[in-house]
Amino acid sequence: MPGAPGPAVTPHPTRKPGAFPQALRVMAPEALLDAGERERIRAKSAIFAPPGATLADGRRELVGMTREQLAAEMVAIGEKPFRAKQLWHWIYHQGATDFSVMNSIARPLQAKLSEKFVIGRPGVATEQTSSDGTRKWLFRFRDEQQVETVYIPDDDRGALCISTQVGCTLSCTFCHTGTQKLVRNLGVAEIVGQFMAARDSYGEWPTPTGGAGDGEGDGGRKLSNIVVMGMGEPLYNYENLAAALTIIMDHEGIALSRRRITLSTSGVVPMMDLCGQELGVNLAVSLHATNDALRDEIVPLNRKYPIAELLAACRRYPGASNARRITFEYVMLRGVNDSIAEAHELVHLLEGIPAKVNLIPFNPWPGSPYKTSTPEALRGFAEVLNAAGYSSPIRRPRGRDILAACGQLKTESERARRA
Ligand code: SF4
Repeated sequence: MPGAPGPAVTPHPTRKPGAFPQALRVMAPEALLDAGERERIRAKSAIFAPPGATLADGRRELVGMTREQLAAEMVAIGEKPFRAKQLWHWIYHQGATDFSVMNSIARPLQAKLSEKFVIGRPGVATEQTSSDGTRKWLFRFRDEQQVETVYIPDDDRGALCISTQVGCTLSCTFCHTGTQKLVRNLGVAEIVGQFMAARDSYGEWPTPTGGAGDGEGDGGRKLSNIVVMGMGEPLYNYENLAAALTIIMDHEGIALSRRRITLSTSGVVPMMDLCGQELGVNLAVSLHATNDALRDEIVPLNRKYPIAELLAACRRYPGASNARRITFEYVMLRGVNDSIAEAHELVHLLEGIPAKVNLIPFNPWPGSPYKTSTPEALRGFAEVLNAAGYSSPIRRPRGRDILAACGQLKTESERARRA
């Protein structure tokens, strides 16, 4: 990408292009890619498993089941497996939540289905719409746990930012959600349900045809993109997330292309390859620092998977190309990580990676330890990156008149409930 006008990048005095500075720790990649390491992550994830699909009244939730699971449920109640295909169409294409509207299914079977199953949605605990159109929901699940989901409009389309965990284990110091302890992972239905409930809110059923699949256009969809960037670390809830995204991408249902889905990770290196191979979605990485000492502090996961290993995983991420660049998120913290020298350091680190950088002005929350970078610092940092050929938009603050920092709405809601 051609860079915007700006200062020339001075070559690093001693380092070869693409080489890592001495300050970055290097670990043996085999240790990180080891299946055992993935198993350890999966086993830990299982400790925080979500509630099952069966409600207190014995009925089972159909949202979140794979096609095979739906077929098995039909067989279990003495019906033909092809009913699963009909249900799939009604649930994920038409957005039906009531069996009585399913006019391709005879009434006796509709009644039988409603005795045995439900097609649920998360409850809406709070909904706020900003003057700039940003909409934020606090969704409540059956066990009363809550997460935030945000819709960010952009002209006639927009991205839905979804959550994958209640709370988070990672304690990134700039993130409000990082102050909330991990309660549990979200289940498949709870992840898909955020998208379906947002579509309900905009009346975007049935699935608009054309666009937002693999083609170019948005097909007039308001909910044209997903960013998995809400509460939680998605790669610590990989199985549920992968199943949810597989449902969302199915072309006979919600039908959102993998090219319109971006998963953001703090850098769970052993799961990144798997994510690229199995899901092929766009990758975003929360980088926020250019040396290990600072990143250890801002993103503590760095102590386990340091910058050199993280960038090596980015270099081999399947499907990354100039047309599908990896996004590096960089929250600009005044006097902490926003110097011109760090901008140059970032350029050297990213060498050889098809990358773009999102510069995020820090969004302060009560008690946060940082200040937002000055407009001059933001501009200067962006100019260095642009001059090196990296697209580096400064993210426009959205929803400033609502509780905009991720996790803030949940905290305020819990405070009000306690009061
Ligand atoms: S930035 Fe993401 S991974 Fe880090 S604490 Fe916040 S929610 Fe967790």
